Parts: sequence; structure tokens; C-alpha cells
Amino acid sequence: MMENYQVLVIGAGPGGYVAAIRAAQLGLKTAIVERAELGGVCLNWGCLPTKTLLRSTEILRLAREGTSYGLVLDSAPRFDLTTAVKRSRDVAKQLNRGVQGLMKKNKVTVLTGHARLLGKGKVAVDNAGAEQKVQAKHIILATGARARSIPGFEPNSESIWTAREAMVPEVLPKSITVIGAGAIGVEFASFYATAGSKVTILEASDHILPVEDSEISDMLAGYLRKQGTEIYAGVHVESQQSTTYGVNVNFTQGEKALSVESEKVILAVGITGNVEGLGLENTKIQVDRTHIIVNEHCETEEPNIYAIGDVAGPPWLAHKASHEGVMVAELIAGIEDVHILDPKSVPSCTYCYPQVASVGITEEQALEQGLEVNIGRFPFIGNGKALSLGESDGMVKTIIDKNTGELLGAHMIGPEVTEMISTYALARTLETTEVELMRTVFPHPTLSEALHESVLAAYGRALHI
Ligand code: NAD
Repeated sequence: MMENYQVLVIGAGPGGYVAAIRAAQLGLKTAIVERAELGGVCLNWGCLPTKTLLRSTEILRLAREGTSYGLVLDSAPRFDLTTAVKRSRDVAKQLNRGVQGLMKKNKVTVLTGHARLLGKGKVAVDNAGAEQKVQAKHIILATGARARSIPGFEPNSESIWTAREAMVPEVLPKSITVIGAGAIGVEFASFYATAGSKVTILEASDHILPVEDSEISDMLAGYLRKQGTEIYAGVHVESQQSTTYGVNVNFTQGEKALSVESEKVILAVGITGNVEGLGLENTKIQVDRTHIIVNEHCETEEPNIYAIGDVAGPPWLAHKASHEGVMVAELIAGIEDVHILDPKSVPSCTYCYPQVASVGITEEQALEQGLEVNIGRFPFIGNGKALSLGESDGMVKTIIDKNTGELLGAHMIGPEVTEMISTYALARTLETTEVELMRTVFPHPTLSEALHESVLAAYGRALHI
């Protein structure tokens, strides 16, 4: 007899496994299907292993600067890539085991294999040729996404890498060309440049991190250049040839035809949803090029089938996937007051050096929308804690609606901004105005005083600039 579940989740990334936990917490008989590793790309091959690698280069950077802090080293610090990569893989394994434990604790059945919808709530799970069929009242598709490539630049794991190869290098390449300066491109550029590679970034848009406020992106470009990274923005990447050294990439920038030769290329030009082989043809589910079409409740066109996270479209962020997972599980359990995601309140974080974080709209978007705004800027050079840490690059920029006082957007570059952005995300959830932000007591000495000062600056009231 076919096993019957109230909820079947397909894909165990941060969308899927979180949905499964919440469904189980709410008393629903839940199973999850995964064909690779529990935790998905985020825990095993994305967010966490890269942050672990970046921690290694952060420590390397601090050691290099150590003498100015009074650190005495007998020789210049050297970087052991093998140990850094091993630590990154160990953290990924620990997280993967953690998700296994969470599934067990919450009594979620884990089915290994590739799931395919057969229609009418039936799903086939194929594990290396051995197929089992299960039945579910509700199905949550959380199959994620994979790296996109561009014609002529198909990844080959030798010289043209995706994030996956870039995460487990055996030897530090002397030079790397990073194509695409979104979060993945910029984080790897930062890692490899600090580790000692000569890095060149090629970005199609006019700014690196093009979704960020351009003032912040331009500041980041300045800092990366100062660290030795070459950046070409507004380029069109044309072709590549293998050379005895590595790869030669030809590109144009306006009228100029240029080329760069490097040992390796990292392709980071975006992602595409995993919609293939899922049996969508057996349902009414609609796909828009690379993602499943859903409404604000993540419902597809097929009753009782939901899609969450990367496979349901942008923003392609783990925390968006998890939020949707919780919302859908609660919806299935009959909770009426579920929290629909407001894209303008989803924070975005990039862990390059210095870090970048934001929430809400940019200055350009505010102007495009014809909004009257007050803009505050506060540089970390005016923050005592940043000076004591020796991390005074960067600033906090806030965009406040002149008429309502709503915090429309916050954009930050500098030390630990990826941690501090949550304060502004909470402010947006609480629909806080400038008055409460100005009246809040921020502890001294902290980096977060810069958050306060930026809002004060929007009204000409900053105290330390
Ligand atoms: P992305 O869409 O963020 O960035 C891709 C970049 O490549 C863009 O800047 C785009 O303009 C550029 N590009 C596209 N085609 C190009 C071409 N032919 N030549 C040169 N440049 C080109 O995608 P990503 O960096 O690959 O990351 C994938 C997703 O994962 C993103 O949504 C990202 O936000 C998410 N992610 C988030 C984090 C984080 O939160 N720290 C980290 C990694 C990835």
C-alpha cells in the first residue's frame, strides 16, 4: 500500500526543510524528499561554506594587519588553502548532520531520491533506479535553483568554474576572472583576492552588485580596487579560448575590445530554477521561463501544490525561502493569519570585505517613484567602535519618506553590517517612523550607533559628523 502523508515537501534546502519542520510542529504527518544532501545548496555548497571560507581570509587579513594592533609575528602570515577548504567542508557536514537530527527530532520522514509528480497527489521517488510511490494531500515544491551559464562559457570544472568548483580549490590559482558581480561573484572575488590571487571582475551592468544602491556599489568598487582587484563594469563578454596558461576572455566595454587572461574563470551570472523532470506536465502548474508561477501564498495553479524559495522566483535568498516555508506550512494547517512576504522588507547581505547589506528601496528607486525623501548618511569614520576595531571604511545610508517618516530603505557598507541590517528590517516590520528611530537608545560604544546617526543625519541632526 502507498504511504499517505498530509504534507510532502520536495527538496530539503532552507525552504523545504524549514517547511517540513513547521508542518510537523503543527501536527501534520510530513515527509521530505531529497536527491542530494539535506540542507540543500545553502548549507552544503552555498551560503554557509562560503561564509566559512571568508572567515579564513578575514583572519588572514587581520593577521597581515596585526602589527598595527600590537601583534608580533616571527614571519609574515601564510595561507593554507587546504585547511581553509577542509574547515569549510567540515562546517557544511556538521550543518547537514544538524538537519538530519532536526528531521528525526520532528518525526519528519526523509525519502532519498528524485521526486516526480504523477498527478492527483501521487509522487514517484526514484532512488538510483529503485522507485517508490507515495501519496500526499499537500505538496510543497522547494527544488531550488542551479548556476546559469552563458553560451561559449560552459563550466568544465577545469578552467571554467561555477561556485561549486570555486568552493573546493586544490591549489590557489595565481589569477582568476570573475564573470558577474552579484553576491556570488563579489564574495568569491573578495575571498580569492585576499587569499592572494590576482582577481579581475567583469560585470555586464554599469555597477557591481547592481541591485544595491549605486552609491554603495560604487564605494565597494573603490574598496575592492584598493585591495588590488581590477573591475570592468558595463561590459559585454564575447568569447573565451583556452591558452597554455588558462583561459583568455574577450569582452567589449563600449567601443573598446579588451581581453583578460587568467588561470581560472568563475561564472557567477545568476541562477535558474530547478523545474525540469518534476512531472509538472502532469499538473496545471505554470512555469515562467525558469520559475514556477505562484500567488502571494505560494499557491500554484494546481490545487494543494505550493512552490517556495528559488524555484518560485526572486528574490533568490535562503531567508525568503524559509519564510515562505513557514507561511505555507501554516496555511496548510489552517492558520488564517499567515505572514505574507513583503519583498521590500527582505534584507539582502553580501559578505565581501567590506560587507554590504540593505533592506527596502534604493535612492534611484525612490526618485523613479517620485517619492519625496530625506536621505541620511553616516560614515563609520565617525563611529568610535569602528575606529577602535580598525574598521572605519564604509557608511550607513537611510532613505526616509519626507511626508510619512517611513523608513523606505537602508543601505550599508562596512563592518558587520550584515548583522546590523536586522534592526532596520525590524523597523520596517513594525512600520516604525523616523521619530521612534531617533528616540531609540542605542548602546555606546557600538557599531549600531551609526544606524541611529544616519537617521539623525536625514534631519540635519547627526551628532558626530
Ligand atoms: P545575481 O543575479 O545576483 O548576479 C549575477 C550578476 O551577473 C549580475 O550582476 C548580472 O548583471 C551579471 N551578469 C549576468 N550576465 C552577465 C554576463 N553575460 N556578463 C557579465 N555579467 C553578467 O546572481 P549570483 O551572484 O550568481 O547569485 C545567485 C543568487 O544567489 C542571487 O539571487 C543572489 O542574491 C543569491 N546569493 C546570495 C548570497 C547572499 O545573500 N550573500 C550569496 C550568494 C548568492
